[in-house]
Amino acid sequence: GLKGLNAVITGSTSGIGLGIARGLAESGMNVVINGMGSSEEKQAISKQIEADSGVKAPVFDADLTMGAEARGLIEQALDSLGSVDVLVNNAGVQHVSCIEEFPEDKWDQIINLNLSASFHTTKAALPGMRQQGYGRIINIASAHGLVASPYKSAYVAAKHGVVGLTRTIGLEVAEEPDLTANAICPAYVRTPLVEGQIADQAKAHGMSEEQVIRDVILAAQPNKRFATIDELVAFTRLLCSHEGRSFNGAALPMDGAWTAR
Ligand code: NAD
Repeated sequence: GLKGLNAVITGSTSGIGLGIARGLAESGMNVVINGMGSSEEKQAISKQIEADSGVKAPVFDADLTMGAEARGLIEQALDSLGSVDVLVNNAGVQHVSCIEEFPEDKWDQIINLNLSASFHTTKAALPGMRQQGYGRIINIASAHGLVASPYKSAYVAAKHGVVGLTRTIGLEVAEEPDLTANAICPAYVRTPLVEGQIADQAKAHGMSEEQVIRDVILAAQPNKRFATIDELVAFTRLLCSHEGRSFNGAALPMDGAWTAR
């Protein structure tokens, strides 16, 4: 089982990362909480998870736009918990703008956080995973790791990069008996990141939020509904399990057939 394993989930103070941290804790895993926001907020999340699930849920701060801090997060987890068995690279941000007006600092931030951080955490976590003969690297990519949309150049480039990184790790660890790397590629999940986009688009187009959800957000999505955090938690648990060990080096869509077109 998954009980007693140690997981680092980046960006676990909100949305998908928080949901996966809660879900893995419910399965008995210790979970490292990381993200931006106030330390009171992060401590409250940690206390709640520890109370609900009886596991350790330490908060380790790291600004993952910086490589040294990303590697440091894993080193801190190794020092404090003794191993990193599961690494969920989830932290990410979005910025929507045409390329001509895309702020250069936003480009750098998104490439550093949404792509390079996963290289740095993986580099720091892999030696221990190889040594102990078990490890799971789960990159929360996106349907935008497989197809593009306009006005999301940095995000689409970073997520395609994550898919490429995942495939490369998969090949490098392929002969290890129980060590895998995969990318989950969800379409829209209703988190604070998406709520922000709905509000921005409503303002930009002079539309109601309901119209934006139907005609903009879910327009490309054949099943016309959001994926849920519960669905992502269930799939993450499968990838962590022994039965999930043949998934490796894969970009796994959870997108209601968006990328089937
Ligand atoms: P969110 O905004 O709810 O959460 C993002 C998390 O990342 C937060 O915990 C935030 O504090 C953290 N973070 C931001 N900057 C950071 C930094 N510099 N260092 C460390 N942590 C930082 O977003 P979400 O919707 O839950 O998205 C999580 C991941 O899922 C992202 O990689 C996103 O691209 C991906 N994703 C989301 C959707 C969706 O529809 N919500 C779809 C596909 C993929």
